[in-house]
Amino acid sequence: MEPLINIQHLSKSYGSTKALDDVNLTIPAGRIVGLVGPNGSGKTTMLRAMTGLISYEGNISILGVEPKDNRAELMRSTGVIHDISVLPPWMTIRQALTFQSGIHSGFNRERCIKLLQKTSIQLDSKVKQLSKGMKTQLHLAMVLATDTRLLILDEPTHGLDILFRKELYSNVLEDYFDSEKSIVISTHQVEEVEHILSDVIFIKSGQIFMYESMENLRQRFCQVSVPEEAVERIRSFKPLLETAIFGKTVFLLEDADRGELAKLGDVRTPSVVDIFIAVMGGAA
Ligand code: ADP
Repeated sequence: MEPLINIQHLSKSYGSTKALDDVNLTIPAGRIVGLVGPNGSGKTTMLRAMTGLISYEGNISILGVEPKDNRAELMRSTGVIHDISVLPPWMTIRQALTFQSGIHSGFNRERCIKLLQKTSIQLDSKVKQLSKGMKTQLHLAMVLATDTRLLILDEPTHGLDILFRKELYSNVLEDYFDSEKSIVISTHQVEEVEHILSDVIFIKSGQIFMYESMENLRQRFCQVSVPEEAVERIRSFKPLLETAIFGKTVFLLEDADRGELAKLGDVRTPSVVDIFIAVMGGAA
């Protein structure tokens, strides 16, 4: 089956800044992919290029459509959340739902209203009366209630309170997702999403350093916490990272023999953030 997303030699420069530098990527259906990188690493630029909001060099195919040539067609199959609000401020929420029904045949109004019932948004309020977080909730509800094969979320929880963030990642995306669809989520709060991801992409300085399934990531990397007397022994395994915490030393290792490590300390699977820091040498 053709991948949902196929990106070849994607580059984007702003003056002398290379925001994206020869990115190559394919994403099949049935995946939830986390795009993880520090601020300024190129996440937003990549998602904007994928949704045809900016010009770029190279080729992108989203469900067979080149975004810069045919944004309108792309939007019929793709739901997008960027940090910009596109709804007219004078509309009531009820009017916004009617508007969405008119432009998107796959919009399910009842489903959207059900999602909005989990928030404090009233159908007769105007868009301009909503807080920034409520606007994001509204936008999310509208996108999630629209039948699309690809969902692109750029920092979707920005400005949302913790309860709605949890709800979004525990239930809402799960309701949306099936094996025909894929979701790409950029975030720098990867700890909130890692439990739902099937794959993770590490991006830094506009380049992709790693694109790995969570399953492989969990097999490849492990963490062991050891007392002082085992420290030298673990160092001989050439760990990627060493951190002292509460009198113990925690090491992060790649392709290590877990059986051997377990004789020396407590072995665990590291979080995506820990792996990112060890591999990329900086905060995620
Ligand atoms: P992220 O989303 O990972 O924080 P961005 O994609 O927003 O990163 O930015 C990547 C790089 O491109 C940064 O160095 C940023 O300053 C630069 N950049 C992004 N958008 C613009 C723009 N419109 N004009 C100039 N530079 C930009």
